[in-house]
Amino acid sequence: MSLDKLTQNYHEILTNLGEDPQRGGLKGTPQRAAKAMQFLCRGYEQSLDEIVNGALFESDNDEMVIVKDIELYSMCEHHMLPFIGKAHVAYMPTGKVIGLSKVARIVDMYARRLQIQENLTRQIADALQQVTNAAGVAVVIEAKHMCMMMRGVEKQNSSMHTSVMLGAFRSSGTTRQEFLQLITR
Ligand code: ZN
Repeated sequence: MSLDKLTQNYHEILTNLGEDPQRGGLKGTPQRAAKAMQFLCRGYEQSLDEIVNGALFESDNDEMVIVKDIELYSMCEHHMLPFIGKAHVAYMPTGKVIGLSKVARIVDMYARRLQIQENLTRQIADALQQVTNAAGVAVVIEAKHMCMMMRGVEKQNSSMHTSVMLGAFRSSGTTRQEFLQLITR
């Protein structure tokens, strides 16, 4: 990602919007906007290996591990506008558990890319499955989309819910229910 090129792009965007990039208030805006966008898309520069960095620990625990209410900030790939919400992630370990902060960092790595919520949910679930070799993985995301709230239908109170259930969470209704109950209370 080239900061210079992105800065030029934002300069052009301002001009094309009918603004004067030279006026006082916009001085430095193209570069600030470029840096902000680089930050919001920094997930492209990260990889699963580097994020997890070996933080897997042997454990006899085979009970469900849940990390809930993980703050989520992403950008929709259709409008390049934010969607904001929470992710709830669970897995059933089979001999290995992952550091808790790593779950949040996996969520972040995929969220900090241009996304649609459905794919984001799937990517988080697949990544956790791949890294932990769990007997099951569940991911639920609830989010509000600025492209829906600020434009288009202008629906301020609707939120979108997506879920992906793998392994035990898919095959066992009891396991799935337990997870869903734990995240809603
Ligand atoms: Zn959108």
